[in-house]
Amino acid sequence: STPAAIAAALAAGAKRGLLIKGGAVLEKLREVNAVAFDKTGTLTEGKPQVTDIVAFSGDEAGVLRLAGALEAGSTHPLAVAILAACEARQLALPAARQAVAIGGEGVTATVEGRALFLGSPVAAAKRAPMPAERLAAIEALNADGKTVAVLVADGAALGFLAMRDEPRADAASALKALADQGIRTVMLTGDNARTARAVGRDLGIEVRAQLMPADKQRIVGELKAQGLTVAKVGDGINDAPALAAADVGIAMGGGTDVALETADAAVLHGRVADVGAMIALSRRTMANIR
Ligand code: ADP
Ligand code: MG
Repeated sequence: STPAAIAAALAAGAKRGLLIKGGAVLEKLREVNAVAFDKTGTLTEGKPQVTDIVAFSGDEAGVLRLAGALEAGSTHPLAVAILAACEARQLALPAARQAVAIGGEGVTATVEGRALFLGSPVAAAKRAPMPAERLAAIEALNADGKTVAVLVADGAALGFLAMRDEPRADAASALKALADQGIRTVMLTGDNARTARAVGRDLGIEVRAQLMPADKQRIVGELKAQGLTVAKVGDGINDAPALAAADVGIAMGGGTDVALETADAAVLHGRVADVGAMIALSRRTMANIR
């Protein structure tokens, strides 16, 4: 019977790490003709490495230890990179008080009596003036596909860290396979436009950059308003609203608990190609039922 075929497909998917939360989601997946991907942790490994540390005042280790203090409670991929760099240098981290993550911007906290911010250059520029030559140095790193986080203390920029996150091994081929099936793909990212374009060029995908979480949600809505059936794939860090706004929200393997809760489906093994596999499973199953 029909329910039996759907149950069998859900079970077969689960066995391959394609978690689909029920028959209604499986049916909806068949209609998907646009997929919006988060960048960090979804199209990329989400395991950035610190590549450069620049101190405007003090030394590199001083910038790194304050950055580490700010990120101590964060699970953001950039936080993980910064904490790994602190550990590699065996830095003792001061305590951070009132740490708050600001989606799409960065993190704030009080450390050693100073009000600190660490985050995107755009967000940092709202809190501290950035001379043109510093912005140019940051832009050069961005053009190399690196993401920069700027450290601000009491309204003055102290320095920055650059990090690089490699695309997932199968990302380019998986995106091409989706395009070959007539499925539109777009990358939505909070990262800056230069970094995002460098990654998008390598992967062959349309790029929308410098987005706040609410922008990602809005763009998903715009695609739906164009008559597209939209899947949104993300790790859920800052992105739960866009996952919820999509026709099908898909959490990417190793994502956050909030992503797994919000999402309609999940690809558990961190393969971009599994998004296409999930759509194919739905199309096959529904074709056999009808
Ligand atoms: P993405 O869309 O690539 O997942 P996010 O929306 O998670 O990006 O973050 C957007 C930008 O905000 C990052 O590129 C970074 O500059 C900044 N940012 C966000 N959270 C943090 C954090 N915990 N530490 C440093 N920077 C952050
Ligand atoms: Mg994110």
